[in-house]
Amino acid sequence: MGSLLDKRKFYVDGQWTDPVEGRDMEVIDPSTEEPVAVISLGGQGDTDAAVAAAKRAFPAWSRTAPAERLAHVERILAIYERRADDMAWAISHEMGAPQDMSREDQVGAGSSHIRNFITAFKGFEFVRPLGDHAPSCVTTWEPVGVVGLITPWNWPMNQVTLKVIPAILAGDTCILKPSEIAPLSSMLFAEIIDEAGLPKGVFNLVNGDGTGVGTQLSTHPDVAMISFTGSTRAGIAITKAAADSLKKVVLELGGKGANIVFADADEKAVTRGARHCFYNTGQSCNAPTRMLVERSIYDRAVETAARVASETAVAAAHQPGAHIGPVVSKQQWEKIQDLIQAGIDEGARLVAGGTGLPEGVNRGYFVRPTVFADVSNDMTIARQEIFGPVLSIIPFDSEDEAVRIANDTPYGLTNYVQSQDGARRNRVARQLQSGMVEMNGVSRGAGSAFGGVKMSGRAREGGVMGLEEFMDSKAISGWDPDR
Ligand code: NAD
Repeated sequence: MGSLLDKRKFYVDGQWTDPVEGRDMEVIDPSTEEPVAVISLGGQGDTDAAVAAAKRAFPAWSRTAPAERLAHVERILAIYERRADDMAWAISHEMGAPQDMSREDQVGAGSSHIRNFITAFKGFEFVRPLGDHAPSCVTTWEPVGVVGLITPWNWPMNQVTLKVIPAILAGDTCILKPSEIAPLSSMLFAEIIDEAGLPKGVFNLVNGDGTGVGTQLSTHPDVAMISFTGSTRAGIAITKAAADSLKKVVLELGGKGANIVFADADEKAVTRGARHCFYNTGQSCNAPTRMLVERSIYDRAVETAARVASETAVAAAHQPGAHIGPVVSKQQWEKIQDLIQAGIDEGARLVAGGTGLPEGVNRGYFVRPTVFADVSNDMTIARQEIFGPVLSIIPFDSEDEAVRIANDTPYGLTNYVQSQDGARRNRVARQLQSGMVEMNGVSRGAGSAFGGVKMSGRAREGGVMGLEEFMDSKAISGWDPDR
């Protein structure tokens, strides 16, 4: 693929259309710093056209039988899986996930979300009796209407499938505005939807930036709901922009997860935690970026984490293997450099990595896997989301202190606990202020909801709760239970 791909069109009302008022923007491959494609950033006319198409499609789509919507999603899954290699290519080139990881994990996250939604939808109860005390009362679940979906670049298909699929299943019609930095995977997803034969207007895609299409969707009177994943900054801006139209706003934002490692943790706990922090080059909202370690095993943990960092290979996304890739953009690279420097300046002890490019690299947005020890929780690197492969290690002396440090953050997405003591694990999990707690390396099962509290937003994505998110409940009395 030597030449620049022309990806200027939008997908509106069932076809690829020229922008009404597009501005060109290049998609940059972060491994090479070379442009791979050119897209358009749309304007008000494009947003309006997509919203109008979704609004026209809504009455018929919202009345389709659930089985019909399910059949569409099953077709989408089959086509998505057939096009997995193309999808892996797009994600590697737009955001730098190494090709094997992109194929397995980035693309794989999308297929497993679609599959899990299919399972959850098959058992979904649209009409639920209130109880024996009120036999003619039911709660029904109804589509919200036209929904705007705004996604980030770090896990593109993970986030797109967590929004588009439940929206379609719920009976909503939608406009997807993917990250302008990583739009290629979403454009391929639009091709997949097109091939699956959804009625026109049910799914629309408009590229654009936050101040343009993002804000236009957030303020649009005909958009009933915004589902957003991205930075806390943008989540606040969207909430304010959406206030005048009082639309439903669902936010999945940043994180600064604590990983509490007690002295009785299993022997792989520190290695696992450090690797998880560097995974996807640290660009995950649920990354365990603050490792809290009980004092008696602290020195050994610091040594282990530093070794994991030095053993973590960094290379271009286009090479096979288990290395990590670059970070997404020059802007992110510079932000991460500043934060590493802030760690040094504020007196944290650098035990691996540091500023600058990894050895032997002279282009691409590559960051050295970095570990700081002796971090105190009020340092910049412990407070701000870095979104790069940078781990901060903080010692603690007691369970209460560990919980206090873990909760001393504006964020509340995922926290982690490592201990062989089940009673302690359960006790600590209940005290942690976050939407998710993962312990001893056990990942959340299919159907559990992804989401946070506090400044991480309060969305609940995936499974039954992730379907309900894209619906409104309705309390009906006088219902004939026999009809
Ligand atoms: P970002 O907030 O800059 O951009 C995300 C999306 O929002 C993009 O599509 C962008 O165009 C749009 N946007 C930006 N400003 C907007 C505005 N004012 N109004 C409407 N839309 C706007 O975030 P990013 O840099 O793409 O992604 C990184 C951030 O996303 C990190 O903070 C990360 O933690 C967060 N994130 C959270 C989750 C989660 O599930 N909690 C998942 C992934 C990423």
